[in-house]
Amino acid sequence: MIVSRLLVAGAGQMGAGVVQVAALSGLEVVMTDVADEFIERGMKGISARLARLVEKGKIDAAERDTALGRIVAGTDLALGRDADFFIEAAPETLEIKRELLGTVSALLKPEAIIATNTSSLSVTALAAFTDRPDRFVGVHFFNPVPVMALVEVVRGRETSDVTVAAARAFAESVGKTPITVTDSPGFVVNRILFPMINEAVWALSEGVASVEEIDVGMRLGANFPMGPLALADLVGLDTTEAILETLQRDLGDARYRPCPLLGEHVSAGRLGRKSGAGFYTYG
Ligand code: NAD
Repeated sequence: MIVSRLLVAGAGQMGAGVVQVAALSGLEVVMTDVADEFIERGMKGISARLARLVEKGKIDAAERDTALGRIVAGTDLALGRDADFFIEAAPETLEIKRELLGTVSALLKPEAIIATNTSSLSVTALAAFTDRPDRFVGVHFFNPVPVMALVEVVRGRETSDVTVAAARAFAESVGKTPITVTDSPGFVVNRILFPMINEAVWALSEGVASVEEIDVGMRLGANFPMGPLALADLVGLDTTEAILETLQRDLGDARYRPCPLLGEHVSAGRLGRKSGAGFYTYG
């Protein structure tokens, strides 16, 4: 199946990023959100990022204009009723996703694939909100979408092989490398990454080394581009704690228990970069 028309619901960080890479890759894209202000914010972000690519010489002005011309944006999901592939990038709330998935099931042609960008909800559970669990799949992009090369293609219990293959082909067609993973808490990357970040926080709280020393250790000793504590600050310490709590609850294993130092920072409002301070202080 070749995807030529994409519908994306949610013009936030992830949705607008997916729309950008898809339009640059030659797909006709419809981007929707619940209010004009969110559509405008999403389009403004896409325009600004494309302008930077032109400034850096990565694309020319004509490519930028062609990509922008492939995007239709509005609050009416029906703008994308002809789509072959739908991705929801709405907030990580079961209720919002339930309603949205029910609406698109009734709207889209029966052969269209419905996908979710969820990072923590069960793909199998979300599939039950659609009329086509065999044509439902997770396509987990990473943030920021235009920069990060990976897509986790998440196979729910009912997802067919054809749907997995189509989702992988779609990811490749927008310039990403897919890996196929089974629906399971944290999928692959977050399940491995967040316990490692947690271990760095435990090491800090036990006085093994300072923030800087732990990060230098992992950058130079494990060749990480960024230390785990700096990465936690980037993700947000509240989000980091929440992901670990989800892993602990859903995998039923105490080894994922968030280090209490994370909670102390969160209670103090030190959420990382977004609040100006976390393990580091930001200007
Ligand atoms: P965000 O808050 O930046 O954007 C969500 C957008 O969805 C908002 O603009 C909101 O107005 C809109 N929205 C709300 N209800 C909607 C509806 N019914 N229809 C269409 N749009 C609706 O959130 P985000 O960071 O882009 O996350 C979106 C999804 O991607 C979540 O499921 C999240 O778990 C997942 N995700 C996030 C990241 C990340 O690092 N932020 C990474 C991977 C996956």
